[in-house]
Amino acid sequence: MKIPLYDTHMHTPLCRHATGMPEEYARVAAEKGFAGITFTCHCPLIDGRSRDVRMDISELDRYQQMVAAARSSYEGRVDVLLGLESDYYPGVEPWLEDLHTRAPFHYILGSVHPHIEEYIQAYFKGDPREFQLVYFGHLADAAETGLFDCISHPDLVKNCYPQCWNPDQILDHICRALDRIAKTGIAMELNTSGLNKVIPEMNPGPLMLRQMRQRDIPVVIGSDSHVPERVGADFRLALDQLRQAGYSEVSYFIERKRRTVTIAELIAELVSSGLDL
Ligand SMILES: [Zn+2]
Ligand SMILES: [Zn+2]
Repeated sequence: MKIPLYDTHMHTPLCRHATGMPEEYARVAAEKGFAGITFTCHCPLIDGRSRDVRMDISELDRYQQMVAAARSSYEGRVDVLLGLESDYYPGVEPWLEDLHTRAPFHYILGSVHPHIEEYIQAYFKGDPREFQLVYFGHLADAAETGLFDCISHPDLVKNCYPQCWNPDQILDHICRALDRIAKTGIAMELNTSGLNKVIPEMNPGPLMLRQMRQRDIPVVIGSDSHVPERVGADFRLALDQLRQAGYSEVSYFIERKRRTVTIAELIAELVSSGLDL
């Protein structure tokens, strides 16, 4: 028995801070009854930028081979897809435009990683609140590039200066970014790994999730697993949070096209199958 849902965000050892081969992630997905998983390892970048936490461009073939091996091992059991977590920052667009054509990706995440040294150097001017505003502006800029299917962990900046995180106070600014994002038709992620970060709530938190719902922004759930055991982690809680925010469906991507499944159907499948996420 499988539930018609994909875990859409996970990594491989090529990013140098994840463990376990793709087969091991697929095994956990099979045990938990997931229909599919999408690998979204950290993209290669130029000029040695944050090279310690991502594959080199010369490893792109190896990445495809690793995911393809898991795909064939689990054929008929778990649909294993190739995706990519691409970093967005102003100026990277031409590189990504080319990179995204170099492999048959099913899904491209657009990520602003505000904790990366080069990002802090460029955009932190001494005021955490200003830094947060720049970050949300960059999320909207990323959406408007048209390079991505989904904006990942879209309030990750809250963990950079957690004592200075007051989303109520910058809600107008967040909403302006969401207005721009909604116009592009892109999806946004509910990332369950946030529960294990400094501010222990998913990315985004409930306040922003409600604002996303009000703008009809589709949501994709991802565990952002860097170890196989976390595949599918806290998906049941994510479904509950989506329902509380007013969502009735979840999205995932195949061949870069968005598909949806209703939360009611997912819950019914969970109950009838006896599976628990
Ligand atoms: Zn990320
Ligand atoms: Zn990730």
